[in-house]
Amino acid sequence: MAEHIIKAQNLSRYYQVSQGLMAEPRTLKALDGVSFSLDAGKTLAVVGESGCGKSTLGRLITLIEPPTGGNLWIHDSDISQAEKQQLSQVRKAVQIIFQDPYGSLNPRKKIGSILEEPLKINTSMTRAERMEKSYDLLEKVGLRKEHYTRYPHMFSGGQRQRIAIARALMLNPDIIVADEPTSALDVSIQAQVLNLMMELQETYNLAYLFISHGLSVVEHISDEVLVMYLGKTVEQGDKHQIFSQPQHPYTQALLASTPFVDPTKRRQRIVLKGELPSPLDPPSGCAFHRRCPKAELICSETTPELKPTANGVEVACHLV
Ligand code: SF4
Repeated sequence: MAEHIIKAQNLSRYYQVSQGLMAEPRTLKALDGVSFSLDAGKTLAVVGESGCGKSTLGRLITLIEPPTGGNLWIHDSDISQAEKQQLSQVRKAVQIIFQDPYGSLNPRKKIGSILEEPLKINTSMTRAERMEKSYDLLEKVGLRKEHYTRYPHMFSGGQRQRIAIARALMLNPDIIVADEPTSALDVSIQAQVLNLMMELQETYNLAYLFISHGLSVVEHISDEVLVMYLGKTVEQGDKHQIFSQPQHPYTQALLASTPFVDPTKRRQRIVLKGELPSPLDPPSGCAFHRRCPKAELICSETTPELKPTANGVEVACHLV
């Protein structure tokens, strides 16, 4: 496991959900057997509708909650076997940026104090050293020294997300889980924040697990794409292959609903029927079959396995 910074094998997170006093608890498979690897300096985009399991995956990678099945290695640590001290090192190496730049910064604290909090908890740096590090990162994210003494409400959404990015970098992590980091921002600001993230990736050789509900946002930033549906991977592989030749009908539908400026990339819209089914009561066979425009009889009877295809991309569909 030396070459990958993250490796997940058959990673799962199930919850037991009780449905009243007399009823048997049921199993909700929020994440069901997802495998991938991520290298330093690279970006894996995890894409799917809300409820597909992508944020659960983000919580497992940031060790906010443990997996209930499969294996997860971060650096060389097998998370299920790691000692407490090793886990605390891993926690510092993996940081998260949340979607909502308004809710994620404490409104009662000044920016300097928000930035320095992780250093106070995790390091023995002096006040002067913490301040110097804060100034340095404020500058790296495109803000200024004088912002150190201001409060979050004095900043725009884009600036707040820059502050959240600076805070995530205070402990010199090498993995960032970015959970829809631009979806609460105006379109014009989204590109600026994405460009900043790409610059910082270059500077610090960061690995990004970039969670997104749509494909358009991840086109420039990602190296690999993992498309999820109801807790499982349906298509996974090289970004260029997936964008130029999507093979799973769900990926095709996601791409067809993606607005592209370049007219050669525009596709005929595919309207998906119905909503994402409840993960408590997933459809039989292929979980996508009730919404899939190409579904055949076998689709409702047998679950398709994720298999490699000719261009190296893995796809879970009976017709591919
Ligand atoms: Fe559609 Fe069948 Fe493929 Fe599932 S297995 S995506 S239902 S064609």
